[in-house]
Amino acid sequence: MPKQLPITTYGMDILRQKSKILKDIDYKIVELVENMFYTMKNAAGIGLAAPQVNRNIALAIVDVSVIDEYKDVKPLVMINPVITGTHREIIMEEGCLSIPEIRAEVSRPEVISLKYYDLNMKEINIEIDDLQARVVQHEIDHLNGKLFVDFLDKETLKEFKKSLNLIKKGKLETDYPLFIHEGEEQD
Ligand code: ZN
Repeated sequence: MPKQLPITTYGMDILRQKSKILKDIDYKIVELVENMFYTMKNAAGIGLAAPQVNRNIALAIVDVSVIDEYKDVKPLVMINPVITGTHREIIMEEGCLSIPEIRAEVSRPEVISLKYYDLNMKEINIEIDDLQARVVQHEIDHLNGKLFVDFLDKETLKEFKKSLNLIKKGKLETDYPLFIHEGEEQD
């Protein structure tokens, strides 16, 4: 049975670190991926990066098929993903399992060329767009220690300050398990 893993939250150091490149895949990674899919689905997420389950490795999963409009879009398991090209720019609303209850509009490329390795360490190059491209960019940001709230202007951030502080203090209730932590980025 796959395990539900607790999600790291805004304010934790691991979400600000650059993830380590994965050199080989063993059964532990395969098991981690299974647990990540299970965790993501139970938290009603459509993307999850390893740092969000407290692992500092360049691994992320994306599955937008739970949304009816995208039901034919196949899930992605990305090892060491890199964006190799971008096209157009579009504003979409984003949220993050590590930053519960906050949603905001972020502008990003609409179409991306993506290079990653699959679980057989085979190199894959694809072009994707729309919601899948959006989530992939959000997850790759996680692997670089970046969060979607970093894109927001000062005014918008101000609006969210109270909620962000509650998350940092671990005082937010969610219907999926979170890592309990003391706020590290005090202000
Ligand atoms: Zn996120």
